[in-house]
Amino acid sequence: MRLHPTVTVLKTRAHSLAAALFALALPFLAGSCANQKKKGMKDTEVSATQENARPQGPWNAVDGNRLPTSVGTKDSYSKVNTSMPFVALTFDDGPHATNTPRLLDILKSRNVKATFYVVATNTRRYPEIMRRIVAEGHEIGNHTVTHGNLTKMSESEVRKELSASHEAIVAATGVAPRTMRPPYGAITSSQKSWIRREFGYPSILWSVDPEDWKKPGASIVANRLVSGARPGGILLVHDIHSASIDAMPSAIDQLLAKGFQFVTVTQLIAMDGKG
Ligand SMILES: [Zn+2]
Repeated sequence: MRLHPTVTVLKTRAHSLAAALFALALPFLAGSCANQKKKGMKDTEVSATQENARPQGPWNAVDGNRLPTSVGTKDSYSKVNTSMPFVALTFDDGPHATNTPRLLDILKSRNVKATFYVVATNTRRYPEIMRRIVAEGHEIGNHTVTHGNLTKMSESEVRKELSASHEAIVAATGVAPRTMRPPYGAITSSQKSWIRREFGYPSILWSVDPEDWKKPGASIVANRLVSGARPGGILLVHDIHSASIDAMPSAIDQLLAKGFQFVTVTQLIAMDGKG
């Protein structure tokens, strides 16, 4: 939904440009308007061509649907450039049988939307929880199948990890993930580049890591999230740990009290560079 305003802006710019040039050229050339309109339409045509040019992989075989258009303009984001008080809460490694539903209740009661970087073994095990995540307005991202270090894998192994996880998410929810997060944040710049080209995924890292996996206790996790949050920030939490879920009511309420609002990762990316 956040991509449409961008398209509208492009079209608006193209139209204003066309109108301005038309006014200038009117006394001289009757055909200039048509030419400018063609120029304006070209933006859309280029992106459609790029999408067609993307290699077709086995991940497209799930339902025959093509991958969605790439999110954002960069290969990777650890935060986005905005002064608006928006942050993205991200939850990795789930879904978990009890912790994720408990987290979903907490998010629902505060009307907070988040992004879940799920591991395919859990995606396949808990399809009902996956559907609940999507039904409640959250976003799903690809976090591979085996949760291995991608920098130690061959290109074909990485491709298999991402395509199998993509398929599992689509099979469970009917919704295609649009971003990926490399396990441990381990990824090379060349991997970021070809992954974005082939899958349309930007690689999503983070700006705040409370190291909740070390189990420092709920109040420390909450305080680290709150003190680290900045506009455009991406907050990393793991919803497989019970203490991390315990930290969320306090963390979310403190962030809301400070004026932050929560959006999903693709919504946050749509704000990049927009003030
Ligand atoms: Zn992980």
